[in-house]
Amino acid sequence: MTLDARADAAAAAAGARTDRPPAARALFIGSEIYRGSSYGAWHPLRIPRVSTVMDLARTLGWLPRAAYVPSPRARPAALTRFHTPRYVAALEQAENDGEVSAAVRERHGLGTTANPVFPEVFRRPATAAGGSILAGQLLRNGGTVYNPAGGTHHGLPNRANGFCFLNDPVLGILSLRAAGAGRVAYVDIDAHHPDGVELAFHDDPEVLIVSVHEERRWPFTGSLGERGAGQVWNLPVPAGFNDTEMRASLHELILPRVADHRPDAVVLQCGADAVLEDPLSRLALSNNAHWDVVQALSHAAPRFMVLGGGGYNPWAVARLWTGVWATVAGADIPERLPAEGEKVLRDVVWTGARRKGMPPSPWVTTLRDPPREGPFRDEVRSRLAAHAARARAAA
Ligand SMILES: [Zn+2]
Repeated sequence: MTLDARADAAAAAAGARTDRPPAARALFIGSEIYRGSSYGAWHPLRIPRVSTVMDLARTLGWLPRAAYVPSPRARPAALTRFHTPRYVAALEQAENDGEVSAAVRERHGLGTTANPVFPEVFRRPATAAGGSILAGQLLRNGGTVYNPAGGTHHGLPNRANGFCFLNDPVLGILSLRAAGAGRVAYVDIDAHHPDGVELAFHDDPEVLIVSVHEERRWPFTGSLGERGAGQVWNLPVPAGFNDTEMRASLHELILPRVADHRPDAVVLQCGADAVLEDPLSRLALSNNAHWDVVQALSHAAPRFMVLGGGGYNPWAVARLWTGVWATVAGADIPERLPAEGEKVLRDVVWTGARRKGMPPSPWVTTLRDPPREGPFRDEVRSRLAAHAARARAAA
């Protein structure tokens, strides 16, 4: 079966029809390949992420068979819509050989500390990419599709980059456009700037890119002044960025820019590394901030593709992304998790994290963080004002 036919079949099986309310049409794309595969014992992505979300959502009764779509693995030909054939072949070869030559490491960034060769080094990212490509097809007639394994926004055409081997957001956007969504709004609230996505669509006036990311952090792209073809809006934010500041960013930047763009589809990269507990960033959001963005964007266009992204504290990721699914699926988040849900979180192992008393009780007994409101600092306020002025000038 071709991917297209498979998408149509999956959509039909899942009841993806336009005459149903959006919440009922939300689909979850997952795969068992994420369970147990790891980037290696010391890599930040040694932790379980999507498998925990799937387990938790199932124990809460939020993932009926009709809402779950197994992710296909993208074929090399589908990947070369963005990546070079030479790189895709090198990635497949790396999985077959279990190693790469010095020349391949140099040319394609494979076999490095950030992008190591591991047993599923082709299959796993190709499955995440296949999920985002399928999401674009499933959204042909509208709706919401969540692919938490997606969001690998650093992938470059010819190289692995920043823990990302392939760029599924780019492939997902191309898939949406092939399925009739010409104008796409890409919103990225990961702690890191989406350099690969911006590279792909920098000069395309039909793709809006709005990114909120930590300033002076790798990959050091995404400056305030970048405009691309007029549709690039970067908001670098300082350490300690809080829920109050994210709410201001949502209402003063994200929502007005998306509304002005009149998109046929919104793609949200919902990386979980901008929360306080994340070990790789210095931002201080609660998961409420992410869920508010998800909720606010859920009716901004007829099609809504929600992706994962970064996130390196396994409890924070599981709670945040399960709550993302609750938000798009219209499920009520309980104050306290039922015992089976708590067990899923208690069973998570974070090797190498030897802090005493881990995990603290709220990380395993609740999904929702306490809100983390804080000052609306001048540097955030003035950057939002600069973007508002730019938008008025362009109008
Ligand atoms: Zn990130």
